[in-house]
Amino acid sequence: MADSAHPVLAVLGRGVVDPTAPVARADDPGLTRGDGCFEGCRLLDGVVDNLDAHLSRMARSCAALGIAFDAGAWRPLIDEAVTAWARPGEAAVKLLITRGAADDRSAGFVMISALSREYARLRRDGLRVVTLPRGLGPDVFTDAPWLLGGVKTLAYAVNMAAQREAERRGAHDALFVATDGTVLESSTGTAVWAVGRTLHTTPTGATGILAGTTQQRLFERAAAAGWTTAESLATVDDLHAADVLWLVSSVRGPIDVVELDGASRTRNAGVDAEIRRLAGF
Ligand code: PLP
Repeated sequence: MADSAHPVLAVLGRGVVDPTAPVARADDPGLTRGDGCFEGCRLLDGVVDNLDAHLSRMARSCAALGIAFDAGAWRPLIDEAVTAWARPGEAAVKLLITRGAADDRSAGFVMISALSREYARLRRDGLRVVTLPRGLGPDVFTDAPWLLGGVKTLAYAVNMAAQREAERRGAHDALFVATDGTVLESSTGTAVWAVGRTLHTTPTGATGILAGTTQQRLFERAAAAGWTTAESLATVDDLHAADVLWLVSSVRGPIDVVELDGASRTRNAGVDAEIRRLAGF
């Protein structure tokens, strides 16, 4: 069983190793250029939630980057890491692969760690969110595969800087807005909003946003439960007018936004509980 203070690390080609063991060479472009990709998943009572969707997206990310990806090698590695974790409840699972140095293979690993302590509080109290300009049009990723739209690359420095800027402004998270004023995604999550019995989210593709596994499964289940679902380009004013707004991601789950750009939002406990339950939280 994993030590409560320590994550579990399992490395491709090596299996479970000491969590402080080196995993990449200093000349790996994954390290020097953010040239690689990753997945963030939720472990719940020994099962990686929605694993097939995460492996499919990782395969798509690797294909876009031209990095070889063998799902058949990852599944046993994930199993080994989960067995070593051996704790009930929730945890965060990261799957990560680098390009690998010119004369070496990709570095790949699975890391399982305890959930951020902050999540319980955010789930209870909701999110304060600020919108930040992304500086990109809503369609710049059309016919431009080299821009890596929708690819979950390791290059998250901009997303993390936006999160710090949000925190500097007294919020928890940042929601990116395109140059035409339409809403994109947050630094680490998909925007989902309810207007009546319709659930909306931002379209993928031309916008370059990540296709969220949590949002996709939520929409499938919500549609089966009688909701209408839609992909919509919305303005920040549209979000202010929505009945409920959530930021949605695999590990944190859907969390409703209680303040947007300083304006308080009335919580809707009934709809929020329904959406969290449909998403598996
Ligand atoms: N958008 C971004 C930029 C993200 O980093 C994430 C999650 O990490 C998401 C959306 C939500 O994706 P998922 O629901 O698959 O976790």
